[in-house]
Amino acid sequence: MVGGGIAGVSAAAALVANPSGPTVMLLEAEGQLAHHTTGRSAAQLIENYGANPVRPLTTASLPYFREPPAQWCPTPLLRRQPVLTVGRPDQDDVIEQQLRTGRAANPAIAEITPAEAGELFPPLRTERLSRVLIEPDSSDIDVSALHQAFVRAFVGQGGTIETLTRVDAARPAPGGAGWIVETTRGEREVDLVVNAAGAWGDVVASRAEVDPVGLVPKRRTAFMVASRWDGSAGWPMAADAELHWYLKPDGPQFLCSPADETPSEPTDAKPEEIDVAMAIDRINEATTLEIRSVRSSWAGLRTFAPDGSMVIGPDPAVPSFVWCVGQGGTGIQTSPGAGQLVADLALDGRPGPTFDGLELDLAGLAPDRFRPAGAAAD
Ligand SMILES: Cc1cc2nc3c(=O)[nH]c(=O)nc-3n(C[C@H](O)[C@H](O)[C@H](O)COP(=O)(O)OP(=O)(O)OC[C@H]3O[C@@H](n4cnc5c(N)ncnc54)[C@H](O)[C@@H]3O)c2cc1C
Repeated sequence: MVGGGIAGVSAAAALVANPSGPTVMLLEAEGQLAHHTTGRSAAQLIENYGANPVRPLTTASLPYFREPPAQWCPTPLLRRQPVLTVGRPDQDDVIEQQLRTGRAANPAIAEITPAEAGELFPPLRTERLSRVLIEPDSSDIDVSALHQAFVRAFVGQGGTIETLTRVDAARPAPGGAGWIVETTRGEREVDLVVNAAGAWGDVVASRAEVDPVGLVPKRRTAFMVASRWDGSAGWPMAADAELHWYLKPDGPQFLCSPADETPSEPTDAKPEEIDVAMAIDRINEATTLEIRSVRSSWAGLRTFAPDGSMVIGPDPAVPSFVWCVGQGGTGIQTSPGAGQLVADLALDGRPGPTFDGLELDLAGLAPDRFRPAGAAAD
């Protein structure tokens, strides 16, 4: 397993639990797991979110989130936190469209009046609003507890983790079966390489001489501001209808974002002052938060395949190279399902019982879907 973000640890935990009893090692370039995008998210579970092929992975993840295995996860993972989508009069059509598509994904989505929205989130400038949607069953995710649960399950079932171990290249092992993986701490011989390197997914593939899929890391900025309202921790998240900003109460603070998507090289992303300033302007226009100072800010790379969906499963051209990338903006909320699907496809060749009754779109997740030969095989 290459990468110890949420994608890597969730897949590693599912792989090591497979009845075939594989030996699994997780190699992470940084000194700490979850240093990159996983440690920088907004930690929200929104069923009505993400590319269509990804949505069944969120649905498949719900049982795990609602009842995590007590052995590995002693605390609850979810705290109910509804999401308000707020629209000005010029955004009526956007809200109408979201209501229609949103209800198909989650029938609980409803329209409420701006005044009702103001009761739920008092700083909203409701006089500027026309239509508001509420997704009442959305939740805040305890990302740290979730990541830890996968790590505990992985190590508890025999998996090993090596940090400060960057995978620099991989070449076929002599005889043709398996790989020699070259790392900053020596070579490892393995049967399968699972690529969960996030923004570096295509770099890892190229260095194994596997065709890249065209991943684009996109920077998203977030920052914290103090709340001057009692009880704001219990308020919903609020987002602009066109996602020009969002705000999430987080204890005595608000997590704020301009919801930017600036293409980037794979790197340790840093926030740009201009993006923070833009978010402050937009949020101050839509609310009475009167943000003047920022307590902390950060940025992370949300990495997308060309069609915005994930890339999951063995590469048809090189089946011992397994993809687990393109988590985009839904990598946390899909991780229990996505990790299980990676393990099922890598070791059993087909989705297991976790996906019974769900309409999985495997073609929409297939590693070769951007290649001419893959298109012909559809
Ligand atoms: C501001 C923001 C808000 C977000 N909000 C949400 C949200 O509300 N809900 C949600 O579900 N998702 C959200 N996301 C998206 C989510 O955080 C990502 O989809 C997810 O964290 C991606 O996980 P990952 O494991 O693929 O990547 P990462 O966490 O980046 O992990 C990849 C790992 O691979 C390692 N690596 C790379 N190359 C190598 C190599 N050669 N050798 C060894 N290791 C290597 C890296 O060091 C890294 O640790 C948000 C993201 C951001 C930035």
